[in-house]
Amino acid sequence: MTFKSDIQIAQENTPEKITVIAEKAGIDEKYVELYGNYKAKIDYNLLSEKKDAKDGKLILVTAMTPTPAGEGKTTTTVGLADGMQKIGKNVLVALREPSLGPVFGIKGGAAGGGYAQIVPMEDINLHFTGDMHAIGAANNLLAAMLDNHIQQGNELDIDVRNITWKRCVDMNDRQLRNITDGLGGKANGVPREDGFDITVASEIMAILCLASDIDDLKARLARIVVGYNRSGEPVTAGDIKAQGAMAALLKDALKPNLVQTLEHTPAFVHGGPFANIAHGCNSIMATRMALKMADYVVTEAGFASDLGAEKFLDIKCRVAGLKPSAVVVVATVRSLKHHGGVAKDKLNEENLEALEKGLPNLLQHVENMTQVYKLPCVVAINAFPTDTKAELDMVEAKCKELGVNVALSEVWAKGGDGGIELAEEVIRLCEKDNDFTFSYETEMSIEEKINAIAKKIYRADGVIFTPAAKKEIAQLEKLGFGNLPICVAKTQYSFSDNPDLKGAPKGFEITVKKVKVSAGAGFIVALTGDIMTMPGLPKVPAAEKIDVDSTGKISGLF
Ligand code: ADP
Ligand code: MG
Repeated sequence: MTFKSDIQIAQENTPEKITVIAEKAGIDEKYVELYGNYKAKIDYNLLSEKKDAKDGKLILVTAMTPTPAGEGKTTTTVGLADGMQKIGKNVLVALREPSLGPVFGIKGGAAGGGYAQIVPMEDINLHFTGDMHAIGAANNLLAAMLDNHIQQGNELDIDVRNITWKRCVDMNDRQLRNITDGLGGKANGVPREDGFDITVASEIMAILCLASDIDDLKARLARIVVGYNRSGEPVTAGDIKAQGAMAALLKDALKPNLVQTLEHTPAFVHGGPFANIAHGCNSIMATRMALKMADYVVTEAGFASDLGAEKFLDIKCRVAGLKPSAVVVVATVRSLKHHGGVAKDKLNEENLEALEKGLPNLLQHVENMTQVYKLPCVVAINAFPTDTKAELDMVEAKCKELGVNVALSEVWAKGGDGGIELAEEVIRLCEKDNDFTFSYETEMSIEEKINAIAKKIYRADGVIFTPAAKKEIAQLEKLGFGNLPICVAKTQYSFSDNPDLKGAPKGFEITVKKVKVSAGAGFIVALTGDIMTMPGLPKVPAAEKIDVDSTGKISGLF
């Protein structure tokens, strides 16, 4: 069988003018700022006008522990919304915007797949409305002002060996990970070790996504810790007096972007923080706006539920005061077989025994949603062309046997028509009351909070803190950061911190090696391994296949 590529399907689609989509979403023309015919930014003043309007139901799409190919959360998010639209519901999508790094690297785009995509996918995956550039500019303005402060006499006594703020660029460029700058003598700056992160790993991105308005944005920017002085006290962006100009650079980036699905469901695509050192979901402003405008809002959190959903629920929902109505856990036959011990190159062969062996992974994700967070939950089986009927039937039967809600999703092949069964189940779940609970309270100590996540969500026996991590925790608590929520950076390929431990591992501990504060974003990052904040390109980058013809038509995106 051959299938049309994502870009082919997207280019064959005829989108509606974005003004039509905005009207459909109930957004008054005066708030719509056009970026061409098919993209718009929505003025955040809409939020003040709608302040007292009732919120719609929030539905989170997350997944079981994935294979490296991704299990289809974005695809399911889009297809579920299109399915809801098909049965007459007023629904909006809220997704992250992609980074150029993965687009030119391995992973590819983040606009869904098959017949469940958002468009214009070329624009969304490339420069879109320029948010990434604005975030990079704000980040680098702060870096420039910081180094200039040191050059001009260093009144704040900043310790050049203890600067934590890095420069950034939206590209996979390992060459820039560690650099030396300020070379060339007195007139050319103070020489020091420095480095670049990819823009989506910048704290500015996390801040943009957690800010509730311009004033909150500015206050968060001012709180960013850029490094420490020679007495070990934090120096902030506020001390450098950078927050005003940074906020000015970000004023348009803060406005949610509106696009549409292939079936013309309105979709907000706004903000895209890393899901390891940051919280991995779209902006609070876009989610809030969507909830004011629609009866149902479908949104995605990065990685599997132990990372993405955990942060969505414990960080984003807490900060924004959101209460989700239902959770969709995406499962695939290939990932179940993968957790049942099948090698990567054999995942396309029918194997019912391995499939059954992989189920505990899925069940633990479901149990976490229903028992820890107390949210109604449904498994969406994302059907692939390589799945056999016996395999699909088995997952469904096993889930039903165990009392787990389940629906087959064929949105990749059929668009919204393939998502109606899932849509009906989700709507049913949204009618139930739920007792949404966090997995920890912020008043607990940093160690207690990390332990709560590790034990309740990962099902670890406990947490080992390295001596360095213990010291950092003591320091952060002393500096008054003890009451922030936790953002764990961990492999997405296992419930544990070892990517090779598949399924639902038991009898393990996780090791926290480093703990740092993102004071502007407002969370403590606990690193369980070496987390890459500036990826590199693979041997054959996806960029080699991307091209544009003389009419301006893009090819080779995926
Ligand atoms: P995630 O959001 O979980 O990372 P995506 O929705 O981006 O996953 O999907 C990852 C890749 O898998 C995309 O290239 C998409 O086209 C493809 N994909 C998703 N679902 C299916 C499916 N049912 N059949 C075939 N390919 C799929
Ligand atoms: Mg995705």
